[in-house]
Amino acid sequence: MEVKDTLSASLKKMETREGKRMNMFVCGPTIQDKPHMGHARTYIFYDVLARYLRYKGIRLFYLMNITDIEDHIITKMQETGKSWEEITSTYSAEFFDIMERLKNKSVSYSAFATDYTEEIIVQIKKLMKKGYAYEISDGVYYRARKFKDYGRLSKQDLDQLITGARVEVNEEKEDPLDFVLWKKKKEGEPSWPSPWGEGRPGWHIEDTAITESTFGPVYDIHGGAKDLIFPHHESEIAQMEAISSKRPMVKYWIHTGHLNVDDIKMSKSLKNFVTVEDALKSFWPEAIRIMMLSMRYSAAVNFDEKSVIDAQTTAEKISILLHRVNAQEERKSDKADEIVERIFSPLENDMNTPETMKEIVGFVKDSLSKRTMTDEEKCEIKYVLSKIEQVMGIVHFPSLPEKSMDIVLNLRNDFREKGDYDSADRIRDSLKSQGIMIEDTEEGSYVWW
Ligand SMILES: [Zn+2]
Repeated sequence: MEVKDTLSASLKKMETREGKRMNMFVCGPTIQDKPHMGHARTYIFYDVLARYLRYKGIRLFYLMNITDIEDHIITKMQETGKSWEEITSTYSAEFFDIMERLKNKSVSYSAFATDYTEEIIVQIKKLMKKGYAYEISDGVYYRARKFKDYGRLSKQDLDQLITGARVEVNEEKEDPLDFVLWKKKKEGEPSWPSPWGEGRPGWHIEDTAITESTFGPVYDIHGGAKDLIFPHHESEIAQMEAISSKRPMVKYWIHTGHLNVDDIKMSKSLKNFVTVEDALKSFWPEAIRIMMLSMRYSAAVNFDEKSVIDAQTTAEKISILLHRVNAQEERKSDKADEIVERIFSPLENDMNTPETMKEIVGFVKDSLSKRTMTDEEKCEIKYVLSKIEQVMGIVHFPSLPEKSMDIVLNLRNDFREKGDYDSADRIRDSLKSQGIMIEDTEEGSYVWW
């Protein structure tokens, strides 16, 4: 399997460590607001990457940080008058709930930044000792130019970086490029004790403290959205490699493209579509996953109303197929294995999920076009669907209330068999008014919604 690595700007073959192990760290959210569709895109992609690596037998540990102290959180406190505890507990609960609903369940451990203030302080002390950090009146800063590779990940020279990014102006800083490691407390801000007085960590040092204490100074995969490359990820490398003198800190840097949510904001029909919570009111989680996975993970994309409606249609077709075969046990066969192999092989090529989605859509279409199916075929189809679910998370499996639909369906069939079509139709129509469709085929009736 090959992936595009941002640091080398090339396709790299994925190699595991001893015992088929890999460690992956993905930048988690700053918990100051409801998750939006950009979060959905990023975390669905890494969820599928994690699922696929595990499907291949790799023992992957997936670590995500949760930024529970940061400038945006303090701004939110000032805007709302709410306490730090209130904001971080509300929005972290909301984040985990939305991830659960989106079926992003592959994270092994979520690490809250403020649980690592001791480890952060240890790292800053080491940087000071090695001459990479200095203290001024408002905090402790990192001497970016002292680290000779600063700028290598984002592939810009340092002077371009200064003009390209909005660098904080601070007269006392030795160089505008220097970034903060520890911010000293201002009135009304939450704070933690440190050798430099009460304060809070800078954003970049949170990640390296968490990864070093969990994985050590070097690990396999680091993920996050592309807009984090500079200064965030660039600064992580500078911190960790300066501390450990070991490089590279990360073997594979995998970055997801930006999802343009602004266009959605401007769309009248989708005006409430910005938060995942609102999207989930109109669409299945599987539809949101299908939509995101139909895009190349690394591309910058706008998404329109049509793409999510198409994705919902695909999700429903998969569900109809599942209903047709669900009474059977799943069974592996050479033919089923061949189909599964064909579906997942594009993932070997830098996680080409759009190609995999095309294979899935083709498989579902072919299967649904069969007027009758043997039990053996049903068992094979069910096996393929369960593998698709394992890796992609796009099969809408019936939950308990959905199973009760079978009872209603059997009742309707009893009426039809007795020739009581009025009663049968009444059941069909009242279900339809609730958005539940009955499809009658030669083989029997199926419900879907
Ligand atoms: Zn991060």
